[in-house]
Amino acid sequence: MSTHLHSPSLRLEKVRGDFPALHQSVNGRPLVYLDNAATAQKPEAVIEAVSSYYRTDNSNVHRGVHTLSQRATDAFEAARANIARYIGASSPKEVIFTRGTTEAINLVAFCFGGTRFKKGDEVIVSEMEHHSNIVPWQMACERSGAVLRVIPVTDSGELQMEAFRALLSERTKLVAVTHISNSLGTINPVEEIISAAHEHGVPVLLDGAQALPHCSIDVTALDVDFYCFSSHKMFGPTGFGVLFGKEHWLEQLPPYQGGGDMIKVVDFAGTTYNDLPHKFEAGTPHIAGAIGLSAAMDYVSGVGFEFIANQEKDLLLYATGRLKAIDGLVIVGNAKHKAAVVSFNLGSAHPYDVGTILDKFGIGVRTGHHCTQPLMKRLGIPGTVRASFSFYNSRAEIDQLELAVRKAAAMLL
Ligand code: PMP
Repeated sequence: MSTHLHSPSLRLEKVRGDFPALHQSVNGRPLVYLDNAATAQKPEAVIEAVSSYYRTDNSNVHRGVHTLSQRATDAFEAARANIARYIGASSPKEVIFTRGTTEAINLVAFCFGGTRFKKGDEVIVSEMEHHSNIVPWQMACERSGAVLRVIPVTDSGELQMEAFRALLSERTKLVAVTHISNSLGTINPVEEIISAAHEHGVPVLLDGAQALPHCSIDVTALDVDFYCFSSHKMFGPTGFGVLFGKEHWLEQLPPYQGGGDMIKVVDFAGTTYNDLPHKFEAGTPHIAGAIGLSAAMDYVSGVGFEFIANQEKDLLLYATGRLKAIDGLVIVGNAKHKAAVVSFNLGSAHPYDVGTILDKFGIGVRTGHHCTQPLMKRLGIPGTVRASFSFYNSRAEIDQLELAVRKAAAMLL
């Protein structure tokens, strides 16, 4: 890299140049995209990897002897190996492709819950979970007679770790918690959670949907049993994601869905299932999704977590300071360890009204309960306005946000 790119502002300019969607006007204003926790924009490298696959290699995988099918299969399995390397899995067999975090959690709830939960067993989740890490467990509990136990959160949006420890018992069959809260940005002490659960012989599933884009993940070092994430929040294509599972767990679990690719031999007398990872991947997969996510991981590695961490830390501090200074604005979620997410409310104004006004200024934020209704209930609010940042956002964009929030305050309060 040439020396001038060591300057953070020039690096930021270069990085922003990699994301075509950032450079457009919305409602006559330059777009300020602050909805990264919902989905991240895609760099040219990902768009190119996906379109080049469709332009030249498009074919079905694992089934054809012809050249295109072999090329597609090679690219698909190379993507799996790259994704496995990126998250520190010890083998590509531990990387199961899914439609996203939601399907990854449902898979574990169905396959693990279906075989291992019995009446009176307990599953621990937390009060800050996304609905996709609550409802699949409720469904698994309904089917099995197991009971959901909930780790409470503090007013500042942190897990009450003493309460968590007290919930662990011989009845606990699984702990399923989020690595980073999508609503508040809280970074949970996942190492502590995993070691406390393991002391009781309890496996842990982490919902990593919000963590992958912000920090480097090593599932082996974490010693986590299951780790779930979505490609689209990680600058890759939508409708694609990953379930990491320790090989010994995945070997023990029954398949999720039946169909092509997940079998070795089908006979009316009985069917033999395929080896890992294919046992869990029935039907034609999202081939371009795997190729796109792999390209996204290469892209993020190129940007580097040093730049990402510095940039996001600066944006979080700067945005928190600017927004706090606005009369009537209350920040929701003040955990000590936070990702670059600022959730807030403006007096008694409804978050939806604030978001609609911000959109008129070209600013995209998310409003509402963020698929965490139990957390909103705990905090006694209907929802929040959430600005979520990525490494490609700038202080200038936060200045635009502040200006627009002040205008919203003048109109609504
Ligand atoms: N968990 C968390 C923490 C999330 O933020 C999200 C997405 N908002 C999900 C799970 C669900 O992800 P997906 O819709 O991509 O399956």
